[in-house]
Amino acid sequence: MCGIVGAVAQRDVADILVEGLKRLEYRGYDSSGVAIINSDKQLQRLRRVGKVQALADAIAQQPLSGGTGIAHTRWATHGVPSEANAHPHISSDNIAIVHNGIIENHEKLRTQLQALGYIFTSETDTEVIAHLVHHEMKSHANLLTAVQATVKQLEGAYGTVITDKNTPEKMIVARSGSPLVIGFGLGENFIASDMMALLPVTRKFAFLEEGDVAEITRHDVNIFDTHGTPVEREAKESEVSHDAGDKGEYRHYMLKETYEQPTAIRNTLDGRFLNNKLSIDSFGKNAQAIFKDIEHVQIIACGTSYHSGMVARYWLEALSGVSCNIEIASEFRYRKSFVPKNALIVTISQSGETADTLAALRLAKELGYSASLAICNVPGSSLVRESDLAFMTKAGAEIGVASTKAFTTQLVGLLMLTLAIGAQHGMTAEQESCIIKSLMTLPNKLEEVLALAGSIEDLAEDFADKHHSLFLGRGDQYPIAMEGALKLKEISYIHAEAYAAGELKHGPLALIDAEMPVIVVAPRNDLIEKLKSNIEEVRARGGLMYVFADVDAKFASDDTMKVINVPHCDDIIAPIVYTLPLQLLSYYVAIIKGTDVDQPRNLAKSVTVE
Ligand code: GLU
Repeated sequence: MCGIVGAVAQRDVADILVEGLKRLEYRGYDSSGVAIINSDKQLQRLRRVGKVQALADAIAQQPLSGGTGIAHTRWATHGVPSEANAHPHISSDNIAIVHNGIIENHEKLRTQLQALGYIFTSETDTEVIAHLVHHEMKSHANLLTAVQATVKQLEGAYGTVITDKNTPEKMIVARSGSPLVIGFGLGENFIASDMMALLPVTRKFAFLEEGDVAEITRHDVNIFDTHGTPVEREAKESEVSHDAGDKGEYRHYMLKETYEQPTAIRNTLDGRFLNNKLSIDSFGKNAQAIFKDIEHVQIIACGTSYHSGMVARYWLEALSGVSCNIEIASEFRYRKSFVPKNALIVTISQSGETADTLAALRLAKELGYSASLAICNVPGSSLVRESDLAFMTKAGAEIGVASTKAFTTQLVGLLMLTLAIGAQHGMTAEQESCIIKSLMTLPNKLEEVLALAGSIEDLAEDFADKHHSLFLGRGDQYPIAMEGALKLKEISYIHAEAYAAGELKHGPLALIDAEMPVIVVAPRNDLIEKLKSNIEEVRARGGLMYVFADVDAKFASDDTMKVINVPHCDDIIAPIVYTLPLQLLSYYVAIIKGTDVDQPRNLAKSVTVE
């Protein structure tokens, strides 16, 4: 969600902080700010509403010197996006803090602090942390112990970084529910909510664990767990490339990431197979024993990842010999659910930090699920660390808020999960090798689909004046229709709904008229004749259709229907293949609408708050 960057260095850190914020801007972007302590121990703060560039421009006008600083891009939860609500928040001109997350007991703390004489200057929940640390400083020997005393009083989620202008040689960081990663430099150290922010200055990172508080100086990093006991957190070299955050020749990250899918999938498939068999270690050391014992899979995810899980349910129940359920994480975590015997909990999240998914995983463990597996794109993320098994997608950094390559690589991971579980529950070697063969054709097939971009761009013009749309699919294409509708609404702001095509006559048919484009995904599978009947139902009611159809399915364009021929592919990989045309359609419609494709309004990447 929001971005945090902090540094303790000998050199001026303003540029490092702003570059870090720019690299995180995709996570939250309604306002930003920076606070730096200069060599005279003065605390200087600048905040701006809007993009990070507005802050960079302000710093260019009014340069900030100093080697200790913190910076933040905000995704507002409490209080409108405004300069007064932007972080850092300051208490009594001494303590400056940035925060990612939500302090749930902020009202109670605010009342207590007001009674102590603290004046609040923002509507945020965050500001209580600044005043509370200041208050605790009165009875504690140093900033570290004051922060340790403060976090004990906080309820909710936080990743927070705190400085005191009187001790510019250090910053204190604390994590509970929102990720923080320490970056180790030479004679300088850093903190960020995502390592992407720090790639220009270091490659060596250590993730904080839940409840950790750390004191960071130029030369030392001392980490303490929830109980205040000193702990080590393993530092690792990152392999993510420095320019992972560059758009290259592409106009938008989303387009770049759409085009990266053949490579991302090649990377995700690479090294997973031996002699035409899946190497089950792709899921972790004990995968074979765990998969052998399970009888049920419960998938938990949010947003786009939820749609990949929905496809997986079709695959798992058809092929793997175990039953499967899927649920939205924010629902699962707040209802009383039945825990089946020998059940595996599978969480899916690009970032591995999605707050609801993480909470659902923790609940599932308490409830007694037999084992857990994370399908995730970020090594070392909370979800990966807290799960028994993990399958790492190799999508590379995904910056566009609307997920593309993370989704399709998740699908690849989930198809491999189907193979891995199936192999323990009676899937034949022939079935397995057939699916592997199909998977291997995928990257080239996707390249063929990307070549359709020009005709999809032409199609997009029809959507310029539309306000609503309907997406239809059947079977494992129903979740793909849902994902297509989600993409369109996320980036073009056109209202889009998806239905299992068989549901049309149970309600949505009432909506059909010339103003409601109907988008259909139509691979040539055993449901194609049923789907053709659904198309006729729409046609008979004067609807306008856009059909992405298998080239062999013999659809022809006419007055009521525009057909885009999609190259023929094996049934099993069709959900992945048909995702791409829908991504391209949303992208080109958004371009026509003139929306902010990579940073759509009100949304943020990596939803680390509830
Ligand atoms: N809850 C805080 C606010 O609204 C932090 C939001 C964020 O994570 O950016 O200011």
